[in-house]
Amino acid sequence: MASSRAYDAVRSPSATGEGPVTHRITLIPGDGTGPEIVEATRRAIEATGVAIEWDVHDIGIPAMQKLGDPFPKSALDSIRRNKIGLKGPLTTELGTGMRSVNVALRKEFDLYANLRPARTYEGVQAPMGKIDLVVVRENIEDLYAGIDKIRTDAAIAIKYISEFGSRRIVKFAFEYARANKRHKVTAVHKSNIMKFADGLFLRVAREVAKEYPDIEFEDRIVDNMCMQLVQKPDLYDVLVLPNLYGDIVSDLVAGLAGGLGVAPGANIGENGIAVFEAIHGSAPKYAGQNKVNPMALMLAGVLMLRHIGEREAGDRLERAIASVVKEGATIRPPSARRNSPTP
Ligand code: NAD
Repeated sequence: MASSRAYDAVRSPSATGEGPVTHRITLIPGDGTGPEIVEATRRAIEATGVAIEWDVHDIGIPAMQKLGDPFPKSALDSIRRNKIGLKGPLTTELGTGMRSVNVALRKEFDLYANLRPARTYEGVQAPMGKIDLVVVRENIEDLYAGIDKIRTDAAIAIKYISEFGSRRIVKFAFEYARANKRHKVTAVHKSNIMKFADGLFLRVAREVAKEYPDIEFEDRIVDNMCMQLVQKPDLYDVLVLPNLYGDIVSDLVAGLAGGLGVAPGANIGENGIAVFEAIHGSAPKYAGQNKVNPMALMLAGVLMLRHIGEREAGDRLERAIASVVKEGATIRPPSARRNSPTP
């Protein structure tokens, strides 16, 4: 099992838990294969020696079954109080009318930035060779903001892009680039056709870029971007996109890095509030078998450790995961691939 190997590899004599700070973190096991990969990830994170008190709460189907509410106040209060959450995947039941708890969580805490770093690790099969990209997706606005009907046999989706929302996501991308020593930010849009909505996003991106003269800036039209990512991914570094393009392009980038099984994500809001997760879903057909790959969630744990100021422990955990993957023996091919949509 990859999880226990990462657990052993990350342990070091200096990681003895002597740090003065105990972090309180909301832990959401999720459902399907969620609880098993959350448990593997919790053990790997604890092996770094960072002192963490886990505040465990159910959301989604398990909460519905136990408490009759998929979105219980106690769980929300816990995230509000602790500001940091680590969550397993949550199933969105199709055709039951239950709203996606994943989307509801992002809205509840205004988690406007979806951060998805994607890099290839030796030992993971990546179709186009080595890549190292970071996708920053706006998480609240765009076509996800609302839908209205115009007649009984038609629907219109409203593409809602605000100056406020564009400015804060582009700033987030530049701040991330600066803090993580990345050299370039590329804004992705379709402003040649959607002149108002995407035009606004691009205009704001250009304005924000002027505040960061130390970081290169350029823009790409989304269709061209997709082709370039497949042909010349090494030309790009940090990408910032409105919600829908971000949703699609981040899966493309995850595929380039080796698949959903190795792709972590973070949903980050104002004032440091953040929920970390794997990009993949609950893979329910493998639930209880302890055989799906916990690597994506462990890498989300790496992002979480860095986010809470435990950068060195995060780097150590990433190195441990990479060394286990490089050995190859404990990783089950193929890496996760999805053939149905994100919630
Ligand atoms: P999925 O990601 O659960 O599964 C797609 C494929 O990838 C399946 O073949 C699965 O077995 C495989 N897979 C997924 N994770 C894996 C891992 N860690 N290791 C190895 N293989 C793995 O996608 P889906 O089937 O579209 O979704 C299932 C449920 O999860 C749905 O209800 C969906 O709404 C939900 N979902 C939740 C989240 C989230 O919580 N953020 C994200 C995506 C999907």
